[in-house]
Amino acid sequence: MHWIDIGANLTHESFDRDRSAVIERARTQRVLQLIVTGASVIGSSAAVELARAHPGVLFATAGVHPHYASHLTAEDLPELRELLRQPQVVAAGECGLDYHRDLSPRDAQLRAFEWQLALAAESGKPVFLHQRDAHQDFIAVLREHRSTLAGGVAHCFTAGERELEDYLELELSIGITGWLCDERRGGHLSALLPRIPADRLMVETDAPYLLPRDLGTKPRSRRNEPMFLPHIASAVAAARGEPLEQCAAATSANAQALFALPAVG
Ligand SMILES: [Zn+2]
Repeated sequence: MHWIDIGANLTHESFDRDRSAVIERARTQRVLQLIVTGASVIGSSAAVELARAHPGVLFATAGVHPHYASHLTAEDLPELRELLRQPQVVAAGECGLDYHRDLSPRDAQLRAFEWQLALAAESGKPVFLHQRDAHQDFIAVLREHRSTLAGGVAHCFTAGERELEDYLELELSIGITGWLCDERRGGHLSALLPRIPADRLMVETDAPYLLPRDLGTKPRSRRNEPMFLPHIASAVAAARGEPLEQCAAATSANAQALFALPAVG
């Protein structure tokens, strides 16, 4: 049994002092492959560097998070395109729309999203998608581009039934985080989990964010780590009423297929 963390922000500064130890701790928990999220051009380039230093274990995405969309200009696109060509890069993103915090103006978010979907199509790599409180615009843009895309995952899915149905209809995969482990806000999600087809389910920590609320012993730093992925997955398996081994086999096979990851060495 092994796990693949499809979303870990390992270039985050909170990992600067012990990044290797974090990766090693994940390994001891059978989290054997991790995809390092790129959220800006500089961050994506750092994610690629990190993945290069851990071949076969770390992979990267290259893209610009909607929060930083206003920083993305047409002049940046050649660099993003070049990053997407790197063998360590397994997806375009994270990209999408976030109207919850509106850290970038919505027109800038839409423009950055469209640009990145075009680059993703060109690269032939799947998309790593982020959406919060922007479903209507998000799904409209995706519907328009879907036929050009090599699949994708709605990362950190926390939305409702309607959103889930729309994503499944577009044949997207669904990434589940430790949001599920929060008894105050994960309840609706746990009811939706059995509705996700086994071949569309993936798990992720979104570390250092989203530390599972129900961890027995919480790190004093409150920092989430990829080693907690099996804890999240056990909540996923419980909500789906399936054995943990089945969840591990399905989520790992799905991630390997979508992101074209090599066999676990
Ligand atoms: Zn996100």
